[in-house]
Amino acid sequence: MARIPLVAGNWKMHKSIAEARALIAALRAAALPDGVEVAVCPPFTALAAAAAALAGSPIRLGAQDVYWEPQGAFTGEIAPPMLTDLGCHYVIVGHSERRQWFGDTDETVARKVQAAFSAGLVPIACVGERLEEREEEQTARVVTRQARAAIADLSAGQVASLVIAYEPVWAIGTGRSASGADAGDVISLLRRLLADQHGGAAAQTRILYGGSVTPENIGQFMSQRDIDGALVGGASLDAGKFIGIIRGAARA
Ligand code: PEP
Repeated sequence: MARIPLVAGNWKMHKSIAEARALIAALRAAALPDGVEVAVCPPFTALAAAAAALAGSPIRLGAQDVYWEPQGAFTGEIAPPMLTDLGCHYVIVGHSERRQWFGDTDETVARKVQAAFSAGLVPIACVGERLEEREEEQTARVVTRQARAAIADLSAGQVASLVIAYEPVWAIGTGRSASGADAGDVISLLRRLLADQHGGAAAQTRILYGGSVTPENIGQFMSQRDIDGALVGGASLDAGKFIGIIRGAARA
């Protein structure tokens, strides 16, 4: 079965409720191409308004993080069923900003992936090397370790529906993207790892590239055999740029 490309926007800590509504209205007003799935991941505070603004649209809703317990005394945390309740389909887990600033580890990311699936959410699990790791030629080792942890204990069916985002940390928000070929090589390596552990399911896992994706460079990523779309940060905050990326993903 062919993998349907996914373009997901990670809004990070941006957009008020009114701004979220306006951005979604602009996406809905555009003639978006067929054959590409689109998702937006607003901050928690705008999820309810975003869900309402997306009603009846094929654009999917995602959250940017989740805790792994289904309920309990965890002040400030958000449980997976709460996101399902809000109408979320996806949840980003293990974004490098969470790993860098908020203590996410391979182990907690794995717990979040499993908890997301248990609640009926589809995790978008992020992996990626830091600049010094790339310079020390540790990219393969780092992303293999992160991905192995994220898929530990998943069933083949879960691996098939999982989304992985390869996001080299040095490319996030810097305007310095990886080359299509470099990103394609790492993503092919990730798919081989999935295949080693879960056989045929790996052919269905969507693996995205993320890191300074723009309407101008999306084509170079989509032309790589194993790249199935993009996780977009900065450019997803601007309707015109995000639509340009979606159209670019469809053309490839
Ligand atoms: C991200 O944070 O997931 C991301 C890819 O950001 P940007 O597109 O701004 O590099």
